Order: sequence, then structure tokens, then C-alpha cells
Amino acid sequence: MTQLTIDNKIYACAPEETVLDALLRAEVEMSYACKKGTCHSCMVRSIGDNPPEAAQKGLKDTQKKQNYFLACLCNPEQDMQIRLPEQSELYSQGKVVENSMLNRNTLLLKVRCQDIQEYFAGQFVNLQRADGLTRSYSIANTPQESGILEFHIRALVDGQFSSWLHNDIKIGDTIAISEPQGHCFYIPERADEDLVLIGTGTGLAPLVGILHDALENGHTGSISLFHGSSVLEDLYRVNEMREVAKKHANFSYFPCISGATVPDGFVAGRADAVALENRSEWKKIRLFLCGHPDMVNNMKMEGFLKGVAMDDIYTDAFEIATK
Ligand SMILES: Cc1cc2nc3c(=O)[nH]c(=O)nc-3n(C[C@H](O)[C@H](O)[C@H](O)COP(=O)(O)OP(=O)(O)OC[C@H]3O[C@@H](n4cnc5c(N)ncnc54)[C@H](O)[C@@H]3O)c2cc1C
Repeated sequence: MTQLTIDNKIYACAPEETVLDALLRAEVEMSYACKKGTCHSCMVRSIGDNPPEAAQKGLKDTQKKQNYFLACLCNPEQDMQIRLPEQSELYSQGKVVENSMLNRNTLLLKVRCQDIQEYFAGQFVNLQRADGLTRSYSIANTPQESGILEFHIRALVDGQFSSWLHNDIKIGDTIAISEPQGHCFYIPERADEDLVLIGTGTGLAPLVGILHDALENGHTGSISLFHGSSVLEDLYRVNEMREVAKKHANFSYFPCISGATVPDGFVAGRADAVALENRSEWKKIRLFLCGHPDMVNNMKMEGFLKGVAMDDIYTDAFEIATK
């Protein structure tokens, strides 16, 4: 059993327990979302001793140097003194400027923010409600010129944060936004190599942002987008993607439906399976995988086995924390 000290209060952390689980068990108010080290919303700071290396996985070097670590990845090796960061250290305030529906269960949320020069389409941010509830959402546009971040948010039945965004948030409301996280974005280099984008559901959000970023940067290699859903009603931006394909000869769009009813103009099958069938050459491409974690993890392995270099596989798995 190790001891965690926060503001002179002491909490016990059982062997095998993470710092996050120990603090939640003690009903300490902690911000967290995925519990898997992806979203970084449970980032806290060790005072004095360095935190275990494994608990700093994926953090920026500047954060590591300041002894920030992820509470969900931290199994303490010794007693720790911890400081919970102030919201203003990690979040800035954005203002909602648009909320409209993209299909029957997907919200388009636009938020105006300051200082978003370093936010790239395809990365994600943590959005935080005033009571501390926090969730990650992917950036669906290239925000530098407009100063506005766009998100696509699927309503989950009984989902706390998505229901709040769908039902309660209004134009003019403020919402806290973290720094951008993740490495799933377009880098303007090797412009002649092909890009393969595969996404399920709101996995289209980062992909549509990456697509526009690549086109705006004059990408000349082919770009193929496979967007999948089980039924037609859950696809979205179909006409817009078809228009982009008409304007750009190097862009191909495959709206995929895995369910039984597949109208003309749509492709039958799961997005990853359709991509595997469609493409014979997988070497020297960049592969972007976003959305359901099972699809992302399976396709990452398939892509690697087909010859895509691990460094050229960019993923954004939408991990949903189980209650
Ligand atoms: C890096 C990252 C990027 C993300 N980007 C996006 C994005 O761009 N758009 C987006 O909509 N979401 C995205 N997510 C998911 C998002 O962060 C939330 O997890 C999601 O909105 C659910 O939160 P909630 O509070 O509404 O649901 P919660 O209150 O957290 O409840 C979720 C409940 O749904 C159950 N559940 C689990 N999986 C499913 C499923 N597939 N369908 C239905 N129910 C399920 C769980 O068991 C749980 O009980 C992303 C997640 C990560 C980690």
C-alpha cells in the first residue's frame, strides 16, 4: 500500500491500483474520460519525486520535465505528493457559434477559440463542462484561418456528455477546451504518396479535416476515403464528399454500409473490408484510421501486415470509458 498526499490529505493506493482509481475511490473530484492513457484529461503533477516513466507515456517533453503524469497510467512505486492542476492551467474558454444536426444522431458543434494556431485537423481536444465532466472530441476542420474548431458529436443513449451537448448547449455558451492532443494529422511532406483514410461513424470528423488539410496543401498522390456505418441514416456529409470527389481527380470517396439494405451509389460492406478489397498496393502510403477502437486496432494490424510502415499509420481510436 502506498500513500498519495494532496493538499495535506492522505489517500491510500492499493497494490495494482492506479492513482486515478485510488482517488476516485476516495471520492476526490478528478477530471478523467478514457482511463486508458489516450485523452490525457487526468493529467496531474508529482511534487518532488519523478513519477514512474510509464505514467508519462505520450506527454510532451515540457510536461514530462515538470513532472506531469497521467493518473490512469500510474501505479505508484513509492509514496507520492500530488498536485491537481487548476482548470486554467490546462484549458482555455471557447464560445459556441453553431450547433446543428449532420444526421439523425450527429451534432455539428462549432466553437470559437483564441490561440489555435497549433491545433491541427485530426488531433483531438478535451471538452470540459463547468462541473468537471470531460470528454475527448476530434477536430474536424483546419481552424487556423477562421479561429473556429468544428466537432462531430454522436449522441449515445444515456451518454452524459454527448446528451448534454445535444440537448442543452446553446449558441453563445462557453465551454472549456484543452490543448490539442494526438498525432493523427496531415504533415505536408511526401505529397505524391497515397493517403488511405478509413473511418466509422463520427470517425469521419478527423478524416474530413485531414482530407481538406491535404487538399489545401496541394497533395498530389491519390486520397481514398472509406466511411462506414451499418445503416444509411448514420452516414453523413455524403453529398459534400461526392462534390469534393468531382472537383479533385485524386480524391475517391467510398460510403460503405455493412447492413442488409444498400442503395445504389453506396458500397456494401464494412469500411475496412471494402478498403482491403479495393486496394492492392499498400506499401509507401499513409494510413489514417479513426472511430471504433475494434476497427482501428484490427485495421492497424492488417495495414502493417500488408506492408504499411508502422510510422505511417495514424490512429484515433474513440475509446469510450465504461461506467
Ligand atoms: C481520442 C478520442 C477522440 C474522440 N472523438 C470523438 C468524436 O470526434 N466524436 C464523437 O462522437 N466521439 C468521440 N470520442 C468519444 C467521446 O470522447 C465520448 O466517449 C463519447 O461522446 C461518449 O461520451 P458520453 O459522456 O456521452 O457517454 P458516457 O456517459 O461516457 O457513457 C458511455 C456509455 O456508452 C456505452 N458504450 C460504449 N461503447 C458504445 C458504443 N459504441 N455505442 C453506444 N454505447 C456505447 C458505455 O458502456 C458507457 O456506458 C472520442 C474519444 C476519444 C478517446
